[in-house]
Amino acid sequence: MATSESISHPQTETLDVPEWFKHCCADLSRVRTHESASGGRLVGMKAVVTNASRLWDNGQTHVPDLVHLICRSEDWDGNQQNKVKEVLKLWQEHVNLDFNFVEDNDTSAIIRISFDPNRGSYSYIAKDMFLASKTEQTMNLGWVWDNPAITDNEMGNILHEFGHAIGFLHEIKNPRRDEKLKLREKVIIDYYLQTQPGIFNEESVRYNILDVYNLQEVTNFSSLDLKSVMKFFMPAEWNEGNIEVLPNYVLSEFDKAFALLNYPFAPDGDKADDVNAKLEAAFATLNVQDDFKKSILAEITAHDWDGARAEFTRWCINETALADKAKPEVDD
Ligand SMILES: [Zn+2]
Repeated sequence: MATSESISHPQTETLDVPEWFKHCCADLSRVRTHESASGGRLVGMKAVVTNASRLWDNGQTHVPDLVHLICRSEDWDGNQQNKVKEVLKLWQEHVNLDFNFVEDNDTSAIIRISFDPNRGSYSYIAKDMFLASKTEQTMNLGWVWDNPAITDNEMGNILHEFGHAIGFLHEIKNPRRDEKLKLREKVIIDYYLQTQPGIFNEESVRYNILDVYNLQEVTNFSSLDLKSVMKFFMPAEWNEGNIEVLPNYVLSEFDKAFALLNYPFAPDGDKADDVNAKLEAAFATLNVQDDFKKSILAEITAHDWDGARAEFTRWCINETALADKAKPEVDD
């Protein structure tokens, strides 16, 4: 865990969780507040893994009050709020969504952010935010501090939670995880039981970390992306390959491609060249080719956002089927 020691987290000494754990999101930490909100298994979990049905409708830039950000106690000139605004620009280059910033007395806000260092970091997933009561914060950025300079860790933290806010889940629970990362279940369970007794039991460790999402829960994913801003830090001893999964502070190419193909921009008008270049980059990153690429592009060109997402989902499902077919037969 040497890599995490070089990252400074002012004030985090007050929290009784190990340093590297600060790279993990709420469903891995003590804050597990939302699982019962809708009874759904994914509620409260915080990938380039997502389920198309939970995403925001695309192109909501013309709905002025659809996605509002509200801060709990400060105004949008505050240090923490400015960090959010700055870092959010990185996502906005890849999603056709508009984020408006409003003050904390504006009850129309859908994304409601707090910066409470004692509540870890978490966010509701996209439309699940409608399940929260209006007085509840939908996102906490517990490791974003009140000073002007943005650290790498803060950037990663904000990108990760806004990944959830636009609908992404945890990459570690990718149904295709085992292709690249075989977890040492007993080591992980023992770790949680020893370090957070009373908070985690074997069942909740399995639920939050070990069990991958099933294909009803997630639809839009491909192979495991260990560079995703939606994965979390994992010490080498937690998996059979002894792979130390380091924290990510920037969007991976997969993150960008999935964001764009789930929330595509219209490839016309002044920005047509730029949009088309981004689309081509996304198709190349994911290796979307031939008929799939053509059908997705046709829907995007027609501004049929539901159709585009449906075609992209179809590609994701096909990829999973191909990966399944390629798996070696296992004898019982
Ligand atoms: Zn998370």
